[in-house]
Amino acid sequence: MIDKRNFYINGKWVKPSKSNDFEVINPSNEEAFAIISLGSKEDTDAAVKSAKNAFINWRETSKEERINLLEKLLKVYKKRFNEMAEAMSLEMGSPIDFAISTHAASGQSHLEDFILRLKEFKFEKYFDSKSNNYIAREPIGICGLITPWNWPINQIALKVIPALATGCTMILKPSEIAPISAMLFAEMMDEVGFPSGVFNLVNGDGKGVGTQISSHPDIDMISFTGSTRAGRLITKNAAETIKRVCLELGGKGGNIVFADSYANAVRDGIRNVMSNSGQSCDAPTRMLVEKSIYERAIKEAADEANKIKVDIASKKGDHIGPVVSKVQYDKIINLINSGIKEGATLAAGGPDLPKGLNKGYFIKPTIFTNVTNEMEIAKKEIFGPVLSIIPFETEEEAIKITNETEYGLGNYLQTEDKEKAKRVAKKLRSGVVYINGNTADAGTPFGGYRQSGNGREGGVWGLEEYLETKTVTGWK
Ligand code: NAD
Repeated sequence: MIDKRNFYINGKWVKPSKSNDFEVINPSNEEAFAIISLGSKEDTDAAVKSAKNAFINWRETSKEERINLLEKLLKVYKKRFNEMAEAMSLEMGSPIDFAISTHAASGQSHLEDFILRLKEFKFEKYFDSKSNNYIAREPIGICGLITPWNWPINQIALKVIPALATGCTMILKPSEIAPISAMLFAEMMDEVGFPSGVFNLVNGDGKGVGTQISSHPDIDMISFTGSTRAGRLITKNAAETIKRVCLELGGKGGNIVFADSYANAVRDGIRNVMSNSGQSCDAPTRMLVEKSIYERAIKEAADEANKIKVDIASKKGDHIGPVVSKVQYDKIINLINSGIKEGATLAAGGPDLPKGLNKGYFIKPTIFTNVTNEMEIAKKEIFGPVLSIIPFETEEEAIKITNETEYGLGNYLQTEDKEKAKRVAKKLRSGVVYINGNTADAGTPFGGYRQSGNGREGGVWGLEEYLETKTVTGWK
């Protein structure tokens, strides 16, 4: 059993103030493989105090000093890259090849991109060439960073790196379901030798450390990624002290497949949803298909879903792994059963365990056809390998259905007609629109409209979230 009971506070690994053990489960075999501690108010207060003390000097460091430390962190990250991939494969069930190629790689690419953006970023400038007014961008202060289990290091990198880059200090609370990658990240921070107290890590659950961070009077900003449910609670808890609250929440992406889309559009859409076992906030989980190609599309979709293998995370290959936990497993199976009850047609998969897998939280890639946008499966974020296919007749109808959701994170559209693609992209109410399978470049902003959140992470936008803006007159 891996022992990760200590917290990282003020540059040291310290014992929790009270012992409160919590087992970390390997979702491929349902067995505990590590123990962490859930922190208490004393631990949170100690971490915040150390971040507050460290802010006095850290905010005065030059951009060059911070770039230098981030470049050292990049070296250490590269050295321990495989350990990072293995940690995520164990804690959240990502197949090891995917953990290497995508999860661990995302941490490195965010680090590289933020270093680049920081080098170019101007923290101070005159208001305009004639003015004696000066505009300064200054670190917001002490940040509470709360991250989820589904893309562990991706989310940590999108918060910790810009906070460091802008001169903020912080307390990180990773997901208690997948905290091992975060502990490894803290070891890397320690190895680099960031000044004590700049980065602190306290494990805990939402009710405990999560709530303590959200309501703490000495924390200036919360950056949160996770469910819309928790985002709402955090906003309420932060209201009393008027913190800045940056939220990256859930999604229910639409993928509009027009009749004139490229040949592999449906199959690519299936692979996209099922990747990471469907546990991505911007997964295109509602596929809208133009009526004239509907029959062909549902055949292709079922065929592609049936080709996707499901297996344990430690095995090499391009299969999908289990979902993260028993709680998530039960929620997804209940939603699959609700789709059957509501009268959607099950075209692939279903609630039974995949063949040969009797232990672990495995779910078959599942496709529902003849879904209407009013069904539970079309409204709720399922967060598992489940896709709903909805037919449409006109461009206007496709846009209307796609926008008829409380979310607005990532939408997708497939058409060879470039003008139609641009026209539809402009009308979709989401933070990202992916056309014809093109991916977003490193450093582009990522975030949601409506109940998918209010923040933008990545690149310059990611740096700006951690900055205050000050006007000083008479500077010349
Ligand atoms: P979750 O909301 O249950 O937990 C996320 C984190 O918040 C965990 O660290 C948890 O301990 C903490 N938390 C829970 N309740 C809290 C509370 N009341 N106060 C403070 N902290 C609290 O979400 P999850 O199940 O870990 O992650 C899945 C969710 O994250 C999905 O809804 C997914 O769409 C979303 N997500 C969004 C993005 C994005 O960028 N928009 C990226 C990844 C995941």
